[in-house]
Amino acid sequence: MILVLNTGSSSIKAAIFDSTLSEIATATLTGLGDTDGMATLKSGATSTQIAAPDHAAGITAILNALQGHDVTSVAHRVVHGGTALTAPCKIDAQVIATIEANVPLAPLHNPPALAGIRAMANARPDLPQYASFDTAFHATNPDVATAYAIPQNLRDLGIRRYGFHGLSYASMVDHFGADLPARLLALHLGNGASLCAIHNGTSAASSMGYSPLDGLTMGTRSGAIDGMAVLRIAEDHGLAEANRILNKESGLKALGGTNDMRSLTASDTPQAAFAVDHFCYWAARHAGSAIVAMGGVDAIAFTGGIGENAPDIRAKIMGHLSFLGDLPIHVVEAQEERQIARDAQRNGAI
Ligand code: ADP
Repeated sequence: MILVLNTGSSSIKAAIFDSTLSEIATATLTGLGDTDGMATLKSGATSTQIAAPDHAAGITAILNALQGHDVTSVAHRVVHGGTALTAPCKIDAQVIATIEANVPLAPLHNPPALAGIRAMANARPDLPQYASFDTAFHATNPDVATAYAIPQNLRDLGIRRYGFHGLSYASMVDHFGADLPARLLALHLGNGASLCAIHNGTSAASSMGYSPLDGLTMGTRSGAIDGMAVLRIAEDHGLAEANRILNKESGLKALGGTNDMRSLTASDTPQAAFAVDHFCYWAARHAGSAIVAMGGVDAIAFTGGIGENAPDIRAKIMGHLSFLGDLPIHVVEAQEERQIARDAQRNGAI
């Protein structure tokens, strides 16, 4: 069996899959790094408070919670593979060094993933480890789509578009199998939101760029915003605060008072209605761009918490795209953890 780990700065999500890729068990640790050193561990129906001052302690707690299962390999979600790690792989010293080298590209996301990989290597050195990258699916985007028109020395630093939510889109491709439409506009609409032009099974364009901030209006991220406006915010508030504002205080939360789409659609305030309008309008605007990248569109697929559960939002976005005529619309369950297990299995894990 394979243990899939999604290690974030304050949480670790774990799921065990068997060789048929059925989910056997899950455990989630939240509140990691809280000042009191205590975290909440949920496994099955039980929830307990445990001492977990760091990721190593968190991994130990997860392993204890899941100890009844015969785990033979571990697979990690890593947000940023950069330009070098463009496919899922088995983890060795070189891969760890490359993930480490990509920390400047994903300063919030790659360090916790590395901490998880290292903690696992210490706790269970006998288990082979694998990695799947949220950027990798977009490695097929052409240079013209990924390059920013900025000086060469800056492009040499890796300042370019990457795209994210790749595990979700890769799992969607697997979901369709032989029935995959040639030109599929895929929208992953959750707290983070993006869309992807999937052309003959590979990514041709992503609405996300250098970071997951770009593109659609999101739960707490602004989505696309002019670089000069970003500079102005940084000038007025400082870099760290500008970062926080754009990533944590913007998007639906800034426009409608909450990042929770369900609450917004249930609310009758004009602010909530505007936030919903903004979300749908910009999803459709970016859809137009992605459709150009594929030279047309044959079908549309929605996934993510909003994409799967909010038919009114899907309808509103499709309303903006009605000029495209009748298109098949699919709703697909996001299965990023299963995709990580599938990737590891393809690399020989189980
Ligand atoms: P994350 O990106 O954090 O994984 P999810 O994919 O779980 O997030 O999506 C969370 C979003 O989905 C929230 O905005 C939530 O309100 C929204 N959502 C979930 N169910 C519904 C629903 N029935 N109607 C509208 N929005 C929903």
